[in-house]
Amino acid sequence: MKSVVYVFDFPIVDIDPVRKFILVNSASIVLNFISLLAAFIVTYSLFFKKLSMVYIERSPKRYRVLFGLIGGILASITVLLSVLTITNIDDFHFIDALTIGLQTYFIFISLYGGGVVSGIFTLTCITAMRWLVDPSVRMAEELNCIDLIAFAITWIGLRLDLERHWRWALISTTTILLQSGFFIMKGMDLGELLLYIGSMLVVAVVMYFIMHYVIQSLEMYVYFQRNAMQDFLTKLDNLRSLHLKITRLVKRMQDTNRDYTVMIADIDYFKSINDTYGHAAGDEVLRQFSKLLSEYCPKKDILARMGGEEFCLILSSGIEKSEKIANQIREAVAGHLCTLPTQQSAFITVSFGLAGCNRDRVHTVNDMHKVMDEADQALYAAKTAGRNRVSVYQAGDSAGHSRRLGWN
Ligand code: GH3
Ligand code: MG
Ligand code: MG
Repeated sequence: MKSVVYVFDFPIVDIDPVRKFILVNSASIVLNFISLLAAFIVTYSLFFKKLSMVYIERSPKRYRVLFGLIGGILASITVLLSVLTITNIDDFHFIDALTIGLQTYFIFISLYGGGVVSGIFTLTCITAMRWLVDPSVRMAEELNCIDLIAFAITWIGLRLDLERHWRWALISTTTILLQSGFFIMKGMDLGELLLYIGSMLVVAVVMYFIMHYVIQSLEMYVYFQRNAMQDFLTKLDNLRSLHLKITRLVKRMQDTNRDYTVMIADIDYFKSINDTYGHAAGDEVLRQFSKLLSEYCPKKDILARMGGEEFCLILSSGIEKSEKIANQIREAVAGHLCTLPTQQSAFITVSFGLAGCNRDRVHTVNDMHKVMDEADQALYAAKTAGRNRVSVYQAGDSAGHSRRLGWN
C-alpha cells in the first residue's frame, strides 16, 4: 500500500509503509529532540534546586526500578496521546512526529538518571502500552523490543564498570546497530539507513552533552551548597546554616503556639583532650559527640555546630521536657567511651545551657538571638557550678559573662 507522508511538511508521495515508518521515525527523532530540549530547559530552570536535592539525596540509582516505572508511565501517556491524536497515519504531519517522539524524552531521562535498569523498565511500559492500545501497529512494538534487547545487552556490558561517557557510547551504539539490522531486514536502502543512523547519532551525542552538563551542574550546586552550609568535620549544620534555619523558625513560630527550647552544649575541658591526645583525637571526639547529639535531636529540630566544641540545639518542646532530654544526652555522653585514633580511649563530659521561648517572646530574629544569649549565660552558670550539668536560664544569670561571639 502506497501513501503520503509529510517530513518537515513537505509531502513525499507514493511511499510504501516501511519507508514511511523509517522517515517518520527519523523525523520524529530530530523534531522531538527540539521539543525535548525546550522541555528540559524549562524543567531544569524551574526545578533546579529541587532537582539537585532529589538527584543527590535520593539518588535515582537507588530507586532505579521506581524511576524507570515512573518514566514508563509518563512515556506511555505520550504514546496514548499520539495514538489518540494521530488518527490518519497516511496523512502524517510535523506535529504528529513531535507527539510520537515525546516518549524519547522519558527514555533518555530514565536511562541517564537511573541507568540501564530504569531504561529497561521504561521501555517495557511503553511496549506494553502500545500493545494494549493498538496490537496492530507491529513495527513500533518490534522496534521497542529491539531497544529492549540493546538495553539488556548494555546492562550485561555495564558489569565492566565503565565511565559515564563510555556507558552512553555503549548503549547508543548497541541500540543504533541493532535498529539498523532490523531496518535492513525490513528492506531499508542505504540512503535511508544513513539518514536514520545520522539522526540517532546526532541526538545521542548532543543528548550526552546536555545530560552531562545538567548532572555536573546539579552535583556542583550540591557540593557548594553543602560546603557552605555544612560543618566539614561533623557533617552537622554550620553557623551560617543555623542562622538561616533560625530565620525560618522565627517565621514558623508565629503560626504555632508551641514552646521551643534553645540548648547550647559545650564539651568540658576539651582543650585538655587536644593537649593530652593530640588534635586528631580531639577531632574524633567531636565526631563521636556530634553523632550522640544527633541521636537525640529529631530531624525536624535544629542541630548545628556553632564552632569549636560548642553546639546548638533548638527543640520544639517546652523547657521541662528539654531539660530532661539534655540530662539524657549529658548522661549518655558521660557514659560513652570515646575511642581515639591513637588506640587510646577517653571519657568526656558536657555542660548545657537552656533557655525557653515561644511566639509571645520571639517576633524577630533579633529576639531569637537574645534567647540564645540567655542559653549561653545559662551555660556559663553550668560551667561555674562545676560542669557536667544542665542549667536553665534564670532572669538573674550574669549577663556580663555571655561569651556569644556577636550575633548582630
Ligand atoms: P570548658 O570546660 O570551659 O569549656 O573548657 P574547654 O577546654 O572545653 O574550653 P576552651 O574554650 O578553653 O577550649 C576549647 C578548645 O577547643 C580550644 C581549641 O583548640 C579546641 N578546638 C576548637 N575547634 C577544634 C577542632 O575543630 N578540632 C579540635 N581538635 N580542637 C578544636
Ligand atoms: Mg569547652
Ligand atoms: Mg567552648
